[in-house]
Amino acid sequence: MNSTQSPQARDTGFEGQWHYMPDVPIRVSPLFSWPWNFREIARWVWNSWFFVTERSIIAGIAFAAWWWFQPSMEEARTLAIGWIAEIYIRNLVLMTLVAGGLHLFFYRWRVQQDRLKYDSRELRENARAFSFNSQVLDNMFWSLASGVTVWTAYEVLMFWAMANGYAPVLYWQDSPAWFIVLFFLTPVWISFHFYWVHRWLHWPPLYRIAHALHHRNMNVGPWSGLSMHPLEHVIFFSSILLHFIIPAHPVHILFHMQHQALTAATSHTGFEGLLVKDKNRLALGTFHHQMHHRYFECNYGNLEVPWDKFFGSFHDGTSESHAKFKERRKRLARGS
Ligand SMILES: [Zn+2]
Ligand SMILES: [Zn+2]
Repeated sequence: MNSTQSPQARDTGFEGQWHYMPDVPIRVSPLFSWPWNFREIARWVWNSWFFVTERSIIAGIAFAAWWWFQPSMEEARTLAIGWIAEIYIRNLVLMTLVAGGLHLFFYRWRVQQDRLKYDSRELRENARAFSFNSQVLDNMFWSLASGVTVWTAYEVLMFWAMANGYAPVLYWQDSPAWFIVLFFLTPVWISFHFYWVHRWLHWPPLYRIAHALHHRNMNVGPWSGLSMHPLEHVIFFSSILLHFIIPAHPVHILFHMQHQALTAATSHTGFEGLLVKDKNRLALGTFHHQMHHRYFECNYGNLEVPWDKFFGSFHDGTSESHAKFKERRKRLARGS
């Protein structure tokens, strides 16, 4: 399936519901397929870290933030408006640059038109389901007013706790190898945490109170990623609390939090990637999560740890998988 086919040319089944589909079945991290295929694992790690990728860019941002825009441990010992405001502004700027930049590129300037776009529909205007009757304004408001605030609050908590000895600090000289490995393990931990809290958010009472706000977005844009209810932000970013037990350096905290906040924007672009000279040079949104927004009861996690595969909620993007998904949904609706 590729983007050159017009929607009319295709059947009206599962595939007919999408403007563009990547190659399916969707591939997940080979680290969780037995027996291990070391070539595949090496390729996965290489592809997600050693090119211009979301991850390598965020690692770069984390180091820059730590080097130029981070209060010293000394300062962080006492809570003061000065350094907290600095962190808040830093995060506000980062979110606006990433989500705003992607929004301008894909939806305002339409640089790539509809190429690699999963869903051909536009983001919604004059829609009462959204705050301010606008999907983009709604998404911006919740991302910036609530998302950046909760993100900042967790960073402040961690830096203050580290500076006062309530959370353990890891320095490069303690163990250079572990210092590096921790970067690689962070997305794995986040994937584990995200799957479970996300399933919990789909528990009907919590869904109604909190997660329904994120699911106003049946179709998504970059600002949709961090558009959540404040309670969901508190739950979503709580993955960082692991570092009250596992020692980390402030730069690990920055990487972890920026990974949470910024990949929420990149993973909801609605496009598979960014084309440079007709080549997909930067993988962005996943069809996996795009399907979660369209069909709800599938693909709660991400591709880093295939929890959905382990627990039967995986939709791999094939028609067969879709038939199984519909069957499961019927069964659940009957309560059997
Ligand atoms: Zn959900
Ligand atoms: Zn989402």
